[in-house]
Amino acid sequence: MHVNDEKHLTFVYKTIKEKIAYRNSLETCPFCNREELEDIIEIDGPLILLKNKFPSLADTCQLVLVETENCSESILTYSNEHLRKLIKFGIDHWLEMEHSGDYKSVVFFKNHGPLSGGSMDHSHMQIVGMKNIDYKENIRDEIFEGIEIHKEGASLINISTKPNACSTEINIITRPRDDNYIADHLQILVNYIMKQSSSYNLFFYSWNNSIICKIVARWVTSPFIIGYSIPHDSNRIQKTAEDLRALF
Ligand SMILES: [Zn+2]
Repeated sequence: MHVNDEKHLTFVYKTIKEKIAYRNSLETCPFCNREELEDIIEIDGPLILLKNKFPSLADTCQLVLVETENCSESILTYSNEHLRKLIKFGIDHWLEMEHSGDYKSVVFFKNHGPLSGGSMDHSHMQIVGMKNIDYKENIRDEIFEGIEIHKEGASLINISTKPNACSTEINIITRPRDDNYIADHLQILVNYIMKQSSSYNLFFYSWNNSIICKIVARWVTSPFIIGYSIPHDSNRIQKTAEDLRALF
């Protein structure tokens, strides 16, 4: 179990096998059976932060943030109060881990839908501390630049003109950190994305004194990305920006 070099995250095959066997044996949703959850780090009302039962990435600390008590709830159905609480709780724990000094870097993200990389339907997010990888080494400023959709003080929302990978990437950029600005605009943006795509990811970045939430619409991953690391933009970005502006 070791990282091949500082660019690859190593899958632990044995743990993945155990995870698949466990998932196939499940009769009910484990995140609905809250009393039976183990390795809990913190509970705050409906929010639970716990260790991933099947940590399948070597040299990491993998945490799961269960967002709600109810299997049918999602970002689209939460109250504004709940969304604010969720975003603050998640960012607090993510940055606390980042500042602990135990990891080279820590990522905070969410998978939703069949094409997002998620394996559990019950709404949750993940925080992963990586011992040997600094995610910031792969990031460039340009993936957060784009056509502005909304602005309030120094916080803004834009749509990437040079996306990191996929054609539709929307950035909520707050500087200084403003969790409520993220929470208050997330639902409307996720709702827009979900009208085009079954799946999306949220990725959080601590970047140049900003806290950024990137919302990425997911389709089947492009062979240009997989084979050649060529990202996609789209000739529809201007139109998408106009659609989004009309929503605010
Ligand atoms: Zn559930």
